[in-house]
Amino acid sequence: MVRPIGNERIVDQVQRTLARDLATHVGEQVLLQGWVHALRHQGGIKFMLLRDMSGVVQTVILKSNQAAFAIAGQLSTESVVAVTGTVKEEKQAPGGIELLAEAVTVLSSAEPMLPIPVIAEKGSENTDPAKRFDWRWLDLRQAEKRDIFRVWTELEAGFRDYLLENSYLQIYTPSFMSMASEGGSEVFEVKYFDKKAFLAQSPQFYKQMAMAAGLERVFLVGPVFRAEPSFTTRHMTEFTGWDFELSFIDSHHEVMAEEEKMIVRSFQRVRDRLHMDIDVPSTPFPSLTMAEAKQKLAQHGVANVRDGDLSPEQERELSHIIKQETGHDFVFVTAFPIGVRPFYHMRLEDQPDLTKSFDLLYRGIEITTGAQREHRAAILERQALEKGVVLDTIQDYVNFFRFGCPPHGGAGIGPGRIVMALLGLGSVKEATFLPRDVRRLTP
Ligand code: ATP
Repeated sequence: MVRPIGNERIVDQVQRTLARDLATHVGEQVLLQGWVHALRHQGGIKFMLLRDMSGVVQTVILKSNQAAFAIAGQLSTESVVAVTGTVKEEKQAPGGIELLAEAVTVLSSAEPMLPIPVIAEKGSENTDPAKRFDWRWLDLRQAEKRDIFRVWTELEAGFRDYLLENSYLQIYTPSFMSMASEGGSEVFEVKYFDKKAFLAQSPQFYKQMAMAAGLERVFLVGPVFRAEPSFTTRHMTEFTGWDFELSFIDSHHEVMAEEEKMIVRSFQRVRDRLHMDIDVPSTPFPSLTMAEAKQKLAQHGVANVRDGDLSPEQERELSHIIKQETGHDFVFVTAFPIGVRPFYHMRLEDQPDLTKSFDLLYRGIEITTGAQREHRAAILERQALEKGVVLDTIQDYVNFFRFGCPPHGGAGIGPGRIVMALLGLGSVKEATFLPRDVRRLTP
């Protein structure tokens, strides 16, 4: 253990060893610290499986070691303990290695009745998800759930690697806003002293302000709030968004090319750092216009639900078809009609009823919306009016574009959905440390 004291660092005599490193310490005395994963009593021997962040290891407590034996006799599973002892090779032990315990110290004892099962045992998969989320800190002790955060951490690091190497600046944007960023009913209203404020539904307007500020390339990672009463496996009321925006582009295709490179970099990082056998996508990703997507779906007998947009079912089917045709897990859908896109999406010069926008689907689920934005104030106002937006309510926004703002575009990415689809989880909530939905505000 290393404890900082003033400017000195005092190193205790016995440093903590992690379960995964035990094999390199055969014959040595080590200190393990972790959770009591399981206990088995066999005559004069107690076997205690100890779990830490790196894995599970067997410790053996002999009756002849009276003090340790007595402590182990009182232990409940999931208690936190420190065990010192000697590392031994033992063919019959899991992993061929075990610790012959000399001393056991209880650091925190667990109450004997656990509210939910921690070890994935028969029947534990049937635990009601709502109950698991109530006891999320116990739910997350299951070793495979650590992968969610390992994958998320490396994905995000890969995303950053790409952005930092390509001259993007990181910015933070406020969550409190005086106006709703996108309007509509999806906005949370909060009391802000003697005024009303809204929680940001997206950092969209601020990212664009950064373009007007001349930052040219920005990215951010932050909370996004949606007051939508959705009860799907893809929606939460608060989620983490990854966003980027870049200037001096000619079309949304440049934004798509950037996103592809970011995703490839992120997936490579997950594969290499975590030694995970995942498919790193090839570039360019398959891409279809909305009209082509609709046509393809019709050819495969998938019913059209809503003109100009894809239903979740159609997104799944489209991904499935593309996977079969190309082997690719990703597919861009571009050129959404103006009716289903916000007023600030730029329109195609030769087809003004279509926008220079895209969605990216991954394994049947939308993970991104992006577009080239309209940066010409007069056209922006005209498009807003056409959509019934009251100009007074967007004056602060339009002002960004009145004093010189380059053509620009960007995208908003939902990392929770990527992790969900990558690991085959049943819901975006499973990919989230503490999910928030219509019913859940705790823990
Ligand atoms: P959807 O059509 O699925 O409701 P959206 O079009 O409202 O999504 P955007 O506003 O474009 O989504 O947000 C960008 C990305 O953020 C989405 O592609 C998705 O990955 C993620 N996202 C959007 N809404 C949610 C939500 N409620 N919970 C979790 N992630 C979300």
